[in-house]
Amino acid sequence: MKIAFIGLGNMGGPMALNLLKAGHTLSAFDLSAEACKKFAAEGLPIAASAAATVAGAEVVISMLPASAHVEGLYLGSDGLLEKIAHGTLVIDSSTIASATSRKVAEAAAKRGIAAIDAPVSGGTGGAVAGTLTFMVGGSEADLARARPVLEKMGANIFHAGAAGAGQTAKICNNMLLGILMIGTSEALALGVANGLDAKVLSEIMRRSSGGNWALEKYNPMPGVMETSPASKNYAGGFGTDLMLKDLGLAQENAAAVRASTPLGGMARNLYAAHSLAGHGGLDFSSVLKLFQKP
Ligand code: NAD
Repeated sequence: MKIAFIGLGNMGGPMALNLLKAGHTLSAFDLSAEACKKFAAEGLPIAASAAATVAGAEVVISMLPASAHVEGLYLGSDGLLEKIAHGTLVIDSSTIASATSRKVAEAAAKRGIAAIDAPVSGGTGGAVAGTLTFMVGGSEADLARARPVLEKMGANIFHAGAAGAGQTAKICNNMLLGILMIGTSEALALGVANGLDAKVLSEIMRRSSGGNWALEKYNPMPGVMETSPASKNYAGGFGTDLMLKDLGLAQENAAAVRASTPLGGMARNLYAAHSLAGHGGLDFSSVLKLFQKP
């Protein structure tokens, strides 16, 4: 299958490589020359522009930071939807507002293009291993078309509902993750301040009722897990500002349906303070710094 892939960041780059390894014909692009260079070196064919990637593509995949980037790409002044052929399937895996996903899907439908939202969970490790969880919003028929492609990048594919529903599922998940990372950091910092070894405490909590994904798969304390961003000076991974964006989306969504999400609101404020302190570009597990002596 001929696939256009736009957005070669921490997630998109490895996802595109998995499609290439699966035997698909790729044409990829990122606005960052550095990102293009990095993945070209790994064998990914790079096009000169987003518009150039979609020529002849049967499937177009985007993995961009936020709503404004996705709206700009597909519906902006030089909108990509105008250049994508009738009958093509568009899969947007970025985490964005569900309203934006619906807007893109409606505009695509008017041009005879199928579009689904398919945000992911599983982190950069899951992107590299091809074990992501996809949460899809769109029709059953469009998901059936997307499934063989998604299966090369992920291990779990869920149909959350109509257009935009994948995004709603994703922000519920990330609100919980953001809260869990803060709670995990607070508990680890408390133990360490009392003289406990972070590795020992992590193992105790992992096998006790405090066990959770942030602790077990993404430990925020440097040195506890060799592979976690914490052990790489919080480089790569999932940026604090991206988590802040997701928690903002959750709060907007909560306001729209008058839901009560007090811990989500508190978590958004703590990541905002952490970002204001200059840590927006670090992995979100660096929120641990809020609970440590500088
Ligand atoms: P990233 O910042 O590493 O990568 C985004 C890339 O998009 C950048 O390389 C940027 O140059 C590129 N880009 C922006 N606008 C573009 C455009 N118009 N055309 C082409 N390229 C463009 O972000 P990421 O960590 O890869 O995350 C991407 C999305 O996935 C976000 O919505 C994020 O919330 C979500 N997500 C991230 C993770 C994670 O662990 N990093 C996990 C799940 C979901």
